Amino acid sequence: MDREDYGKDEGRYMICPRCDFNQAYKIFEAPVDKCWEVYRCPRCNFTWRSTEEEEVTNPKLYHSKFKLSERQIEGMAPKPPIPPLRRPQEVKR
Ligand SMILES: [Zn+2]
Repeated sequence: MDREDYGKDEGRYMICPRCDFNQAYKIFEAPVDKCWEVYRCPRCNFTWRSTEEEEVTNPKLYHSKFKLSERQIEGMAPKPPIPPLRRPQEVKR
């Protein structure tokens, strides 16, 4: 599969270059001539343009140092951190 295989069909899912999730999708395209498109991965939130280098757009060429596994993504702390819930009696009036 090469760069030309990505994003050519409307509504077609793609593979995220960073985490290999198979439900990345197009979120935006050039408004006039459609010469570029922007894609997003719903699992790791990676976002990339169709015009970037193959090292960014192709899952097989994406640098292994920057790859994320499903386990790594699940272990990430939420940003910004969410404080523990307070019980109603702990809330000062
Ligand atoms: Zn991803």
